[in-house]
Amino acid sequence: MKTALVTGCAGFIGSHLVGRLLTLGYRVIGIDCFYTNYDAALKERNLKSLLAHPAFTFLPVSLQQVDWPAILVGVEELYHQAALPGVRNSWGNSFASYAEQNITATQQLLEACLAHGQVKKVVVASSSSVYGTMQQGLTNESADINPTSPYGVTKAAMEQICKVYVKAHQLPIVMLRYFTVYGPRQRPDMAFHRFIHKLAAGEPIQLYGDGQQTRDFTYVSDIVEANILAATHGGAGDIFNIGGDQEISLLEVVRIIGQLLRVKPQLQFLPEQLGDSRRTCADITFARQKLGYQPAVPLKTGLTEQIRHAFSQSTFS
Ligand code: NAD
Repeated sequence: MKTALVTGCAGFIGSHLVGRLLTLGYRVIGIDCFYTNYDAALKERNLKSLLAHPAFTFLPVSLQQVDWPAILVGVEELYHQAALPGVRNSWGNSFASYAEQNITATQQLLEACLAHGQVKKVVVASSSSVYGTMQQGLTNESADINPTSPYGVTKAAMEQICKVYVKAHQLPIVMLRYFTVYGPRQRPDMAFHRFIHKLAAGEPIQLYGDGQQTRDFTYVSDIVEANILAATHGGAGDIFNIGGDQEISLLEVVRIIGQLLRVKPQLQFLPEQLGDSRRTCADITFARQKLGYQPAVPLKTGLTEQIRHAFSQSTFS
């Protein structure tokens, strides 16, 4: 039985990843400090069914407080999902927290791996926000790193610190640049989550800018599979775009959600937000070729799942 460690295991993506690893027969150690970026009750609910699993051990601590020598014993794969995510909140006084959770905590984790672990692969969650505004056409991994938000800066710095540990210490780190992730348990600050709840309540949806900005949306199970493939096939220092292969405007997303909920969306347009990219569209050729990654869930199917989950009584699946 392989042992994996998942940081940020109570979060949106981390909780799905733990579930999948348990299904695959791993022993999983999860770490999460219930950071206050959103309601702890949602994170507790994300963990609920996982806690009952005999192969899952949960440590409710921050990365900065973990007893690494004890925890890393026997860990072969480490999936680092913990971070302070979100572009909009990263402006102003919160930058110090972003830098602490996204850069400093990652560096401490890498030091711990170096000092105490025999981890065979460290898979790290990065973000398309490292690119900033993307050019026409698909963006591949050699595009300029030019973040347009403080959050993007912290993810770019996190990648740099990972590269330093690969170069200097040969730590086997693989970085995945996720393109906007959606699906059940999506963070409440994220667009689809807000759209679904507003539309269902008959309230207007607020769109920043003209709504024509596009995103490459990626269903959460595709992100999870990319992580597992990266642990097996990724090489030290590799960076992969992980997108859903479906660029679509926010207006079109709202139209589809309205159709699925059988409501006519009311829209309010607000000024464009600082740091928002006009478009994101991943070239996933490298991930396809080296990892065998292939996004499997089309947008309408994924949205149907997210809506079903949002309104299911148990809200846990
Ligand atoms: P999330 O906030 O739902 O999950 C992150 C979890 O990490 C939270 O439960 C939080 O409590 C925990 N955490 C934060 N700092 C911690 C620390 N120091 N110690 C222990 N736990 C800590 O966010 P998410 O959307 O699931 O994102 C997961 C990862 O994916 C993040 O690294 C994020 O930057 C990255 N990412 C997400 C998206 C997306 O669309 N959701 C896109 C690009 C990149």
